[in-house]
Amino acid sequence: MSLYLKQIEQLVELQKVDDHIHLIRKDLSDAPKEIEHLRHEFAQAEEERARVLDKLEHLREQEKRLNVDIEDDATRIKKSKSKLMMVGNSKEYQAMMREVDSLEKMNRDREEERQLMTEELERQTSAYEEADERYNKFKAELDDKETGLNARVEKSQRELKGLDDKRRDTIKLVPLPVLSRYEFIRERLAYPVIVPVCAGVCSGCNIAIPPQGFIELQKGKQILSCPNCQRLIYWSEHFTDTSPSSRAAAGEAAETPEAGDDDE
Ligand SMILES: [Zn+2]
Repeated sequence: MSLYLKQIEQLVELQKVDDHIHLIRKDLSDAPKEIEHLRHEFAQAEEERARVLDKLEHLREQEKRLNVDIEDDATRIKKSKSKLMMVGNSKEYQAMMREVDSLEKMNRDREEERQLMTEELERQTSAYEEADERYNKFKAELDDKETGLNARVEKSQRELKGLDDKRRDTIKLVPLPVLSRYEFIRERLAYPVIVPVCAGVCSGCNIAIPPQGFIELQKGKQILSCPNCQRLIYWSEHFTDTSPSSRAAAGEAAETPEAGDDDE
């Protein structure tokens, strides 16, 4: 194998490790976003539950006060009525009667108010039950998801650590100037760094390599960059790698982690 092809092979190997790191990092950054929505819904349910509870407590306070008022009035009416029996003249009697009437009317209004309040209390109690149920449902779901997320993050971090070691071993094999070029691109351009040119088209940016450049590439003498996206390129006929990670590197099909990731 020519030195050129050896270096391409080393870079593709390195890219594979970086593909894996890329996937895990992406998963790590996406994972919390997946439950962000649930966190938001939970916060809303919590707020709603607190709001209804507050209303309910306020209504209960009002109800208590109203009950006291009604009882006080009933006592007052009773007293007035017994006084009514003892008044001597009809003028005084009329005045007392009016007082009793107005007290009774006030109490009837209060009874009506109490009736409305009882209905409102019933409504708010059932609203609270609903809000509480919703709150508990989201809480359980969120707890569950957060536990799962923590486990996933821990697993990913372990994998990343393993990949860092693997990367260190892989870059030992790459000559420094070639590695510097790779790292320069990796730090500045969009993932991935090295891509195959298939049928004259750069698989990094999907733009055709100009004929002269393509001829140079086919000669396989030096490591070239795509004139459009600046990624390192190699001719697909020189080096055929069909592993899933290199195919992922060829396009941005690397969005989802491959199935069977655990078997590695
Ligand atoms: Zn390109």
